Amino acid sequence: MKEIPIIQAIPGALKKKPESGQPLGFGKIFTDYLFLLDYQKGKGWINARIEPYRPIPMDPAALVLHYGQEVFEGLKAYRWPNGEIYLFRPRKNFERMNRSAKRLCIPELDVEFVLEATKQLIRLEKDWVPSMPGSSLYIRPNLIANEAALGVQVSDQYLFYVMLGPVGAYYPQGFSPTQIYVSEKYIRAARGGLGEAKTLANYAHSLLAQEEAHEEGYNQVLWLDAIERKYVEEVGTSNILFYIGDELVTPPLGGTILPGITRDSVLHLARSWEMKVSERMISLDEVLRALETGKLKEAFASGTAAVISPVGKLNYKGRVHLINEGKVGPLAQKLYDNIVGIQYGKIKDPFGWMDKVC
Ligand SMILES: *Cc1c(COP(=O)(O)O)cnc(C)c1O
Repeated sequence: MKEIPIIQAIPGALKKKPESGQPLGFGKIFTDYLFLLDYQKGKGWINARIEPYRPIPMDPAALVLHYGQEVFEGLKAYRWPNGEIYLFRPRKNFERMNRSAKRLCIPELDVEFVLEATKQLIRLEKDWVPSMPGSSLYIRPNLIANEAALGVQVSDQYLFYVMLGPVGAYYPQGFSPTQIYVSEKYIRAARGGLGEAKTLANYAHSLLAQEEAHEEGYNQVLWLDAIERKYVEEVGTSNILFYIGDELVTPPLGGTILPGITRDSVLHLARSWEMKVSERMISLDEVLRALETGKLKEAFASGTAAVISPVGKLNYKGRVHLINEGKVGPLAQKLYDNIVGIQYGKIKDPFGWMDKVC
């Protein structure tokens, strides 16, 4: 692929990089450059370019600001002990972005082109990839409808951009279980809705449930199905798995659940260990019964941000249930160690998941 044209920042205008040892947090620090790509009806995707990080000019009537025609992704670049930089299954993110785009009537991207462009951006910004344990460079591709029009309609014009920012370890104090509040009042997605698309509406609509869970002293919301409020769907913005007896169970991808790449990786690993893995509907009653009879060994969530997030406590209808005595279980630990080990080049990657940037 041709090198993408770069508009260089004025050298004096470059940002100060975080000091080594400085806590990075999540999503607060952004690098010096963006990758941008426009879409115009009749012309397709045009004007690929890398430019200094800056506000995006937008008409006040831009369709995304009124009707939410948008899709996004989230992935990370990891620095290996030898200094090289790798992505984890990045094609999966851009393929998923295209599936999300289709649902939102947004034109699809050329996966190979945007992946290569993202790599060029990271190569330009490679000094921003942190090397502290557990840290990484977070990559946020975003695709917005920016035609100026106030009628509810499909936009004729789009902007795709990729922004980057160093992020710290998700568990700076060590791997620790989360406390989950089961939402009976709110639902995340109904069949036929937007549940399997990574699009802004799903997150806007989850905020109130999340706020109320926080007020009760819980970290995250567990979402039940929209119709019967009986079957488990997801936890916060991650997928959920239960280890019951000798079976690893997770809800199936039926249209209401985000098809997580970490979820897929967990299932792949568990199958490679010859575990019994089931993608099936699981009711919260079944989970609680398994807990009462001692069959529920572990529950954990999966997602790019935390990789594996063990569930220590569950609040349902005002009753508090402890899972695995509120401690991290051996399966969660083993999955975490393996995935993180592969991502950071500390253990062999038997599945060809890692994709070299430089
Ligand atoms: C992004 C996301 C996930 C996790 O997907 P990964 O590809 O594993 O990061 C799960 N659920 C929701 C709602 C999400 O937005």
